[in-house]
Amino acid sequence: MLVTGSISEIRNTVKLWKREKLKVGFVPTMGALHDGHLSLIRQVREHTDRVVVSIFVNPAQFGPNEDFERYPRQIEKDLKMCRKQRTAAVFIPDTSIMYPEKQFLSIQIDKLADHMCGPERPGFFEGVVLVVNKLFNIIKPDIAFFGQKDIQQFQILSSMVKEFNHEIELQMGEIVRANDGLALSSRNAYLSNEERLRAPSLYRSLQYIEKQVKSGIDEPSLLIEHQKNELEAKDFKIDYIGFFSFESLKPVQKLKSGHRYILAGAVYVGDTRLIDNLLLDYP
Ligand code: AMP
Repeated sequence: MLVTGSISEIRNTVKLWKREKLKVGFVPTMGALHDGHLSLIRQVREHTDRVVVSIFVNPAQFGPNEDFERYPRQIEKDLKMCRKQRTAAVFIPDTSIMYPEKQFLSIQIDKLADHMCGPERPGFFEGVVLVVNKLFNIIKPDIAFFGQKDIQQFQILSSMVKEFNHEIELQMGEIVRANDGLALSSRNAYLSNEERLRAPSLYRSLQYIEKQVKSGIDEPSLLIEHQKNELEAKDFKIDYIGFFSFESLKPVQKLKSGHRYILAGAVYVGDTRLIDNLLLDYP
């Protein structure tokens, strides 16, 4: 397994593979790998001949009061996990390689970051688009996998690929969960034992709303209010819970037959922000 922080080395390696007509797949991560990341690596392996994983805690996607310094870093453990998954190359650039000088250009997102996680995390999706754009230009994979857990990120990156003409196929991997339903996340490491026990309630609330809606409710606002109250009673702080259009990511009050929706939520347990979502094809 090649481990490198050098742009030219990873570029030359991928170029050689492509010359041999090998298909190259890519999984960008911020490290502190868990089974969610590993399932993406496995899926890429099924679709391609060579898997590249990047590990880079991207400062551009953290707000000034967010957890950049505190974000879990465990490179040796991550490399072991990548090796076990038969990863061909891991790209671990320094910040000075990814952002060597002041950036004169930035990327603006129209509408797709107006709802869901956008308002609470200003600049976050711009930072994601910036770094993934750079990584795509460095690696030039045939396919890249991202998780449904960050579905807004997936939809924004899909627009980026389309609008910036990246010749890369994006695929979405299902959410990997712990036995009690909590979506795996590197940030779950922040939870105290007591918080960890409470954390799956977000998923349970989403499942409850989904079940009620599937049984015929098409205006779910009261149902959602009730679940928010239940979560608040368990000491969660709610950022949002609701239905959003799968395509436009706009909030939806009334569900229409034959449409696809994202039922998504973001809450705080103590200081830790949890997100989760379910996809719903309204019957
Ligand atoms: P991160 O390291 O958190 O930036 O995540 C890297 C990739 O892994 C992103 O595409 C995430 O959506 C994906 N991912 C994170 N958590 C999960 C999970 N529980 N299941 C599947 N994919 C995930």
